[in-house]
Amino acid sequence: MADNPLLSPSTLPYGLPDYAAIRPEHYLPAFEQAFGDHKAEVSRITVVRSMPTFENTLVPLEESGRLLGDVARTFYTVSSADATDEIQSIEEQLAPLMSAHQDSIQLDSALFWRIKTLHDQLDELELDAEQRYLVERHFTEMSHAGAGLDDEAKARLTELNQRLSTLTTQFEKNLLADTNDLAVVFDDAAELDGLSEGELSAAAQAAADRGLEGKWVVTLTLFTGHPYLSSLTDRASRERLLTASRSRGSRGNDHDNRDTLREIVRLRAERAALLGYDSHAAYITSDETAGSPAAVHSLLRELAVPAARNAAREQAKLQAIVDAAPDPFPIAAHDWAFYTEKVRAAEYDLDRAALRPWFEAERVLQDGVFRAATDLYGITFTERHDLQGYHADNRVFEVHNADGSELGLYVLDLYTRDTKRGGAWMNSIVLQSRLRGTAPIVVNNLNVPKPAAGRPTLLSLDEVTTLFHEFGHALHGLFATVTYPHFAGTNVFRDFVEFPSQVNEMWIYWPEILASYARHIDTDEPLPAEVVEKLHASEAFNQGFATSEYLAAAWLDQAWHSLTEDEAAADIDVASFEAAALADIGLDNPAVPTRYSSTYFAHVFSGGYSAGYYSYIWSEVLDADTVEWFRENGGLRRENGDRFRGRLLGVGGSKDPLEAYRDFRGRDAVIQPLLERRGLAD
Ligand SMILES: [Zn+2]
Repeated sequence: MADNPLLSPSTLPYGLPDYAAIRPEHYLPAFEQAFGDHKAEVSRITVVRSMPTFENTLVPLEESGRLLGDVARTFYTVSSADATDEIQSIEEQLAPLMSAHQDSIQLDSALFWRIKTLHDQLDELELDAEQRYLVERHFTEMSHAGAGLDDEAKARLTELNQRLSTLTTQFEKNLLADTNDLAVVFDDAAELDGLSEGELSAAAQAAADRGLEGKWVVTLTLFTGHPYLSSLTDRASRERLLTASRSRGSRGNDHDNRDTLREIVRLRAERAALLGYDSHAAYITSDETAGSPAAVHSLLRELAVPAARNAAREQAKLQAIVDAAPDPFPIAAHDWAFYTEKVRAAEYDLDRAALRPWFEAERVLQDGVFRAATDLYGITFTERHDLQGYHADNRVFEVHNADGSELGLYVLDLYTRDTKRGGAWMNSIVLQSRLRGTAPIVVNNLNVPKPAAGRPTLLSLDEVTTLFHEFGHALHGLFATVTYPHFAGTNVFRDFVEFPSQVNEMWIYWPEILASYARHIDTDEPLPAEVVEKLHASEAFNQGFATSEYLAAAWLDQAWHSLTEDEAAADIDVASFEAAALADIGLDNPAVPTRYSSTYFAHVFSGGYSAGYYSYIWSEVLDADTVEWFRENGGLRRENGDRFRGRLLGVGGSKDPLEAYRDFRGRDAVIQPLLERRGLAD
């Protein structure tokens, strides 16, 4: 215990955990200690005999649980990005313990009484705006968690939460295992015709890593689709890849997720009923900016009609190409991306796969992502080779403000590995807080295939977009200037959190930024002007498909989570349920599959997006409206960046987000820019 590095504050800069010294066996004892400390800290608040005040209740509450937060962020960073068998087994053991602990705090009657007492007299207390909002949020969150229920209901709630945490961990574990098992092995390079040399060498390397020298292995992404579907010329290879992707979690083997997700749905519906809501979706949206499932459903239905119509138009064009060839066939889902590239080439004379040499990863990072942030916010980045993260592939950068003051650390983990979950994300290792005197450490994870040794990493345009997007979340975390850790950085409503990251994507095509990062790997030539023009011209291209596949997934999430307790108790066949839900909203075109099917929909069955996958399009309303504002005001300028940072990014969760938005924009957001961007306007 004495030499457990998790139990003493890190002496590294910014409190970066000393990952080199941490061994897996340190985690569980550290969590145990941290649970105990946190409980003791909270009981010191509740044993106070004097009436509750902000100082004797909220301040110590915000200071409590510090060790637990530190240990948890240290651990979950690793369990998402480098989950060895040992780490996975710790995560499984931890899930119910963590859930029980959280409940013991969130459902603590004595603590709730103190907060409710403060909340009842909110207008009489002399509090500043952030303090006032802190009381409101703690009161709302504890009520939402069930702190006002009687003891019997609380006991059942705790059981449900623990079982759910085990199930969601199980879902993710199954998915990771099935994704690895289903990586597609090709015996002959001819089957992979169409891939670039770099992609082929990555596939050969992936095969070698699995002991399959002389073969090629294509690993799956989290999405239904796969980036290689757009370039593989062999129709059978495309079909194999898509079929493997779509079968994840539903093959009747040990990794089958169907029973797991049905139980998750059933227990979430039961929990919602216990808390007084008709469904899990009603429960979740009640504490989001959306407010109700009806508001969400109405937006999704409104967008689904023009999206499906646009997808059908796109499909007709793809079909025309196939029909003009010698052996026509009906366009299937695995053909969509491939023929879409043909249409793109014909209509815009644009070959996206050929753009990779202009998107060398280091250049994109330094001269694109970092450069845009420097121009907008004045911040600078210095790589700290003396600091290491949790994996040899991590890169650690120190971030400074324009005046030279220290802002925080940014950790980048670019490459895919079998121990990393799919997709891309940002998370925090340390939260900013004035109360605690801490500066932020944020991490970005992507799943870019690692090139063979000595070769450069050439990104696809999608990967460039992902990097800018995730970096937008990173900025949100880095720019926090809040007092209370409860509000730091990305601790905002789920249906608001994607907004800053989406806005950051606008700099990808911004002329100065593009000219700075999109340089040919061999010649240093910028992306030719006519290619840039074509990229602009083709921005709304294939948006019918992209919007439909996204909306389909968002609708599936709503469908599962809008079930009442009784409906969820029925014996539901997963495939039929999906089909019926997609038909209901008119997104059942077999050539346009949902972005995720239920059995591998990690966002909603193991991540934090249950009944919340709609958030991406919901916050895109704000994003598109904000992009307009930047354009109206001269774009990439320090004044603009400073306003966005000061009024929006920096406030984190410390005020009502829509109020922060009005502060920044001068009015509420309007939907028109989104409709135009996605080609959905009448
Ligand atoms: Zn995001």
